Amino acid sequence: MRVSIYKSEIVAGDVKVSAVLTFEESFRFSDGASSAEVWFSWPASYFLPEREIWDPFVMIALPFAMVAGEDLSVEGSIDPVLYLNLLEVISIYHWYFPGKTREVEIKVKVDWSAKVGGANDRVGTFFSGGVDSLFNVADMKRLHKMGVASLVSDLWLVHGMDIRLSDSGLWETTLSELSDMASMEGLDVTPVRTNVREVQRGIIGWTDMGFGSILSAVSKLFSEIVPTALIGSYDLYKYCVPHASSPQLDPFWSCSRQVVRHYTSRVSRMDKIQAIHMNAPGLLSKVRVCWENTDGQYNCGVCEKCLRTQAQLYALGILDDVSSFEGFDLLGNLKGFRLNSSALGNGYTLRFWQEILDVALENSCSDLVRVLSPILKDANRRAHYAAFKRSVKTAIRSGLSH
Ligand SMILES: [Zn+2]
Repeated sequence: MRVSIYKSEIVAGDVKVSAVLTFEESFRFSDGASSAEVWFSWPASYFLPEREIWDPFVMIALPFAMVAGEDLSVEGSIDPVLYLNLLEVISIYHWYFPGKTREVEIKVKVDWSAKVGGANDRVGTFFSGGVDSLFNVADMKRLHKMGVASLVSDLWLVHGMDIRLSDSGLWETTLSELSDMASMEGLDVTPVRTNVREVQRGIIGWTDMGFGSILSAVSKLFSEIVPTALIGSYDLYKYCVPHASSPQLDPFWSCSRQVVRHYTSRVSRMDKIQAIHMNAPGLLSKVRVCWENTDGQYNCGVCEKCLRTQAQLYALGILDDVSSFEGFDLLGNLKGFRLNSSALGNGYTLRFWQEILDVALENSCSDLVRVLSPILKDANRRAHYAAFKRSVKTAIRSGLSH
C-alpha cells in the first residue's frame, strides 16, 4: 500500500488535509477502486498547520496494509518515536487478529527535526550481557542503518541486581567482560550501584514489583541526558503475563523527558539471537545468561538457563562463535537433564525449550533433536499432569463450596 499526494487546503474557513491510499497489488476498496482519498477537516481558526502532517495518514493506512498483506510505503516522513511505536502496533494487531492480518514492513523516512538531538539522540539500554540486552543494541543498529532510529549510545550495568553488592569478585569479572564486549561496538558500559534490592528483600518480590521498578528508576536518573531508555523484553506479546517488567507496564515509566520502551515483545528469543548474529555478531561472543554463577563463574554452563541458551545457539549453528560457553559439553550435559517443576510452572520456560526443538527440527540438527525430544516429552507429560491435578482440585473445591 502506498500513501501519497498529501494536500492541505482551506475550504470555506476550514482546513482540509488529505492523502491518497493506494493498494499496489490485487486488494481493492469496497467501491472496487485501488485508490481512496482520506481527509480530515476542522476550523482554520483553531489550528493552521505549517508543515505536512503525514503521521495520521500512515496510522490510517496501516490497518488496510495489514489486511491486504501489503508493505506500506510512504511518500512523506513521520516522527521517529511514532515509527518505533508503529512496529509494536503491527505486532499487537497481528496478535489480536491473526486470521485477518499479516505483519508488514513500513518503508518511510523519519523526520528528526522534532527530536532534540536529531538522529544522534542518545538511547540507553540495560546491559546485563544477556540475549535481550544484546538484541537491543543489534536491533537499533539495524534500524539506524535504515535511517529510522538512533543507535544505542549508553549501556547501564547495575551492581546490586542479579549480582549482590557484596560480591565484588563476580562484579569485577562481569564488568570487565561486558566492557570488552561493548567495545566491539564502540560502546562503554556505565556501572551503576544501588542497594534497593537489599531494601526490597522480604517485602517486594523480585519478579512481581521488584526488578522492573529498579530498572525504571535507574533509567530515570539519566532522563536529562538520555531521552530514550530500553528495557529488554522477556517474551512475545501473546505470552506476556503479570510480571515486574512487561509491555503493558514499562511504557508508563515514561516522563516528559524520557520515553521508556519494553523492547520488544514483537521478537521471539530465537529471532533475537539471530538478529544479534546478523547485525552485531561480536556481541554474542561473551553472552552472559547465568544467575547461578556457581563458584563465581561467568556462565556455569549447566543450569537451566545456561543449557537453554547453549541449545538455542547450537540449534542456530552459532554456538562455536560464543567464547563464554567454551569447554562445556552441551549434548552430554543435556543427557538426563529434566526441567524442574518451577520451570514447568511458569509456562514460558517450557515454551522456550519447545521453540528450540522446533528450530532444531527445521534446521535438521538431528543430534540436538535426539537429546531434546525425551526432555520435552517428559516435561510436557508432567506439565499436563500438573494442570490436570490443578483442575481436579479446583473442581473439588468448588463442589465443596456448593
Ligand atoms: Zn548457569
